[in-house]
Amino acid sequence: MTANSMDELVALCKRRGFIFQSSEIYGGLQGLYDYGPLGVELKNNLKQAWWRAMVYDRDDVEGLDAAVLTHPKVLKYSGHEDTFSDPLIDCRDCKSRWRADHVEASRCPGCGSNNLTEPRPFNLMFKTSVGPVDDGSSFAYLRPETAQQIFTNFKNVLDSTSRQLPFGIAQIGKAFRNEITPRNFVFRVREFEQMELEFFVEPGTDEAWHEKWVQIRMDWWSNQGVDENALELLHVPAGELAHYSKATVDLMYRFPHGLEELEGIANRTDFDLGSHTKNQSELNISATVLPNNESNAKLAVQNQQQKLWTVPYVIEPSAGVDRGVLALLNEAYRVEQLDGGRERTVLSFKPHLAPIKAAVIPLKRNHEGLVTHAKTIKADLQNLGLGRILLENSGNIGKSYRRHDEVGTPLCITVDFETLENASVTVRDRDTMEQQRIVIDDLAAYVSDYLE
Ligand code: ATP
Repeated sequence: MTANSMDELVALCKRRGFIFQSSEIYGGLQGLYDYGPLGVELKNNLKQAWWRAMVYDRDDVEGLDAAVLTHPKVLKYSGHEDTFSDPLIDCRDCKSRWRADHVEASRCPGCGSNNLTEPRPFNLMFKTSVGPVDDGSSFAYLRPETAQQIFTNFKNVLDSTSRQLPFGIAQIGKAFRNEITPRNFVFRVREFEQMELEFFVEPGTDEAWHEKWVQIRMDWWSNQGVDENALELLHVPAGELAHYSKATVDLMYRFPHGLEELEGIANRTDFDLGSHTKNQSELNISATVLPNNESNAKLAVQNQQQKLWTVPYVIEPSAGVDRGVLALLNEAYRVEQLDGGRERTVLSFKPHLAPIKAAVIPLKRNHEGLVTHAKTIKADLQNLGLGRILLENSGNIGKSYRRHDEVGTPLCITVDFETLENASVTVRDRDTMEQQRIVIDDLAAYVSDYLE
């Protein structure tokens, strides 16, 4: 079961502290959101799961964390200055602006007028001035994708790690796009995070690697608890491919507002390394690139035997963290009918994604003996390094269980008066609501087994 509507998720996110409208107390800024106490945990857990799968579990990928502010030349040669735009339509009556593909039947989605301008390209990149003088002569872009600094650091990573093809560079970080019509909660926003891998391969092996990565990424999302039936592959039609792409497969997810892109897996060919490299004319670059005599690095690899230089092809799985969080929330959401006409809302996250792993709850608020035990249990479990363990000294067990069901905490550990007699606690399972008595000495092993 998933949420019935986006509104249901938005309400839960605000009520329980997952996601808030940014600058809300001043009326909010459109297309910007802040992650609250539970949202930041969920987001970090998702990013960690990605990093583990992409970097730690593989031996052919290195990590990177590059600057957000980007030299204009990087985005000139990447093609973004010329082509990173969406068609924009203005409504002459209500002065609103719309992305052309969001306008239906030539009517303004705001006021319904047909007094609209012709579509014109609108560049989505944010610019900001750099240094103390704001005269437009010194500026940088806020990166529209994390990928470009992976390409510009290609030689640094290659030289410092002695990698050979195939190998990848992974990065998680913020990206910024001045979206014309941000909408659908965190699905389309102006500041978001991406988890991107650029996987460098020998030309000629790119198509096989592309297929492989599409499968790896599908499997990964389903390991995060996304129902396979809610995922679909879309082979982007040739006329709609980004300027750098030879082929792109979009991994589409059934969001509450419809089937839309969660991740794109593109074959970027040798376009980006070819665009940013020096000595372009001496290299065999297959993509059509801007002539570049400003770069000072040769972004190519040398074959050990024949000493020939090759510009690698790149396969890029690029996933949105915010869209991932939205998909996970939607997949985990369910409302269950209980006996006596009661119901409960549960977020059934996989344990590794749950914002709080276990709540330790003394049966009676501020009871010295119970709280002392609870504190020791919390500290011991926290030391296991499994994520956040919360001591909840609220004294209202029923309310605590409901709250923890609703935020997806897999285990609630209750310290009661029997604990004082025989050093055991009750452990309640979020999904089955069953409780069992566990001796404190066995608790760490039980909790680690359960969460891992
Ligand atoms: P769309 O067609 O939906 O605008 P895109 O094809 O431009 O997306 P990519 O350039 O492929 O997106 O970016 C890779 C990933 O980054 C997307 O799959 C998505 O998860 C995420 N992403 C892109 N734009 C946004 C945005 N405005 N808000 C949130 N996430 C985004």
